[in-house]
Formats: sequence, structure tokens, C-alpha cells
Amino acid sequence: MERKVFELGDIVLMKKPHPCGTNEMEIIRMGMDIRIKCTGCQHSVLIPRAKFEKNLKKVLRSKSASTESDGQDN
Ligand SMILES: [Zn+2]
Repeated sequence: MERKVFELGDIVLMKKPHPCGTNEMEIIRMGMDIRIKCTGCQHSVLIPRAKFEKNLKKVLRSKSASTESDGQDN
């Protein structure tokens, strides 16, 4: 099973879309709980890390594309 790696500033794809229809979220705070912001409506929610990891589908874009970057999108 693939381990999900995410960090502050990443854009992530969630399994459950936000009520506004967007399922892309930005990680804006990390700790015991994780605060994510909807990229569609800018609404932010604080959720426990375990729940976040469960609902995380994949990391779309890493803010610091340092190690395993295979694209040049800027
Ligand atoms: Zn939203």
C-alpha cells in the first residue's frame, strides 16, 4: 500500500468533494489536526490527521517539488 506523503502548501485531491463541488484542497496548516482550504470556495476546515489521510485520494501538486519532481510546470 502506497504511503501518502503530504506537506504544508500541497494541493490535494480528496475522496469526498466539498459541498461546493470542488475536491481539491490546499493544506494550510499541519499539526495534530490539519487545516485544509477548499480551492473552489476558499472555505477552510480543520480535521484530524487520521481522517484527513483516510479522505485523501492523492497529492496533486507539491509546493516544494524538490526531490521526485518529474515535471516543470512553472
Ligand atoms: Zn468549497
